[in-house]
Amino acid sequence: MDQIYDFAVIGAGMAGASLAAELAPLAKVIVLEAEDAPGYHSTGRSAAFWEECYGGPGVVPLTLGSGPYLAENGFLRPRGALYVGREEDKPALDSFVDRFADTGVTIERLGRSGLAERVPHMHADWTHALWEPACADIDVAGLHQHYLKSIRQSGVDLECRARLADAQLNDGVWALQTEQGSKVRAKVLINAAGAWADPIAQLVGLQPLGIQPLRRTVAQLRVSPAAPDDLPLVLDINGNFYFKPDNGRLWLSPHDEIPTTACDAAPEEIDVALAIDRFEKVTDWTIEAVERRWAGLRSFAPDRLPVYGRDAEQPEFYWFAGQGGFGIQTAPAAAKLAAQDLLNLQADRFTQNIDRSMYSPARFSQSVSGQARANL
Ligand SMILES: Cc1cc2nc3c(=O)[nH]c(=O)nc-3n(C[C@H](O)[C@H](O)[C@H](O)COP(=O)(O)OP(=O)(O)OC[C@H]3O[C@@H](n4cnc5c(N)ncnc54)[C@H](O)[C@@H]3O)c2cc1C
Repeated sequence: MDQIYDFAVIGAGMAGASLAAELAPLAKVIVLEAEDAPGYHSTGRSAAFWEECYGGPGVVPLTLGSGPYLAENGFLRPRGALYVGREEDKPALDSFVDRFADTGVTIERLGRSGLAERVPHMHADWTHALWEPACADIDVAGLHQHYLKSIRQSGVDLECRARLADAQLNDGVWALQTEQGSKVRAKVLINAAGAWADPIAQLVGLQPLGIQPLRRTVAQLRVSPAAPDDLPLVLDINGNFYFKPDNGRLWLSPHDEIPTTACDAAPEEIDVALAIDRFEKVTDWTIEAVERRWAGLRSFAPDRLPVYGRDAEQPEFYWFAGQGGFGIQTAPAAAKLAAQDLLNLQADRFTQNIDRSMYSPARFSQSVSGQARANL
């Protein structure tokens, strides 16, 4: 109890692990994780892709900033992505291209033949597509382990089965207590608790920001013929489904976003059935079995941008939350950005094109706070 850490990070998912790893060389850090092992919640349940446009134009700088780090460390495997539509979806595809026009992403338009070449069993009325050649699969477990290994090697204390239960700030030092009875003192409390980001703020007596967990379901299908390994990630331009191959199987999601409280999310049969129904309406693959199904929480701030920065009321409380559906693909740049902020360091080649103010929690006290907080 004598030691005072510079930073106590709450949560050892991708967010907490990556940020602790970036802070560790220059600071004394402890990570408190509620579960028996890191990665049990959203981080262990992702669909594992790096897709330049995912999350919208405001997320692109974080995704593009992270790409080189992921590639240089061997965590990406080329996949390619196709946004697909029918004749009536052409305006939606056009407006998608317009939205990303100045963001630096690569999008090529394809017609029916280009689509059919890449996705063999799509029904003939799917005639338009946008091709994103840079999309890749991410080795999520590998990336998470990379950060966990780095924090072990740099002397970070990682305590599992340590659910933060109380936090009091006295004379510039947080006195933290876990449900299991551990006591920790730290100068800055970092909220990397994923779906629990708002409850953590409330626990320490701060205003929540309206970060809402939304459930997302994925089913692993055995299909006939088997899914080819070079199939791209296929996303409906209207957001009704996506699928990608995994070792001859297909991972299929109905792109659901069911509001829920922070919890150990489980898939609902209705969402799996919906995914299958949509899939059968757009392809002629035969589904032989649903081998596996899972759900996880994607947590969004009201404007769907992540929240990185000191709390507007309590600067010793740092938000590293709201990573939505892009928390893996943006992790390297986001962690560097936050560490540079916390340690007063210069931007580097991964963060130089990122405007940190876009993600500041201060944006809620200025504009949307009334509405976001009224909705809680
Ligand atoms: C189905 C699905 C598909 C996805 N696909 C992709 C994808 O393809 N690409 C991509 O980039 N992203 C994807 N995502 C999003 C990505 O998984 C998340 O953005 C990311 O995992 C968030 O990481 P995190 O560390 O913030 O959250 P989590 O991994 O949930 O970690 C938060 C941690 O905080 C801990 N915690 C909570 N409360 C406390 C407390 N009181 N004390 C101590 N610890 C606490 C929890 O136990 C948990 O381990 C997907 C998500 C889902 C659900």
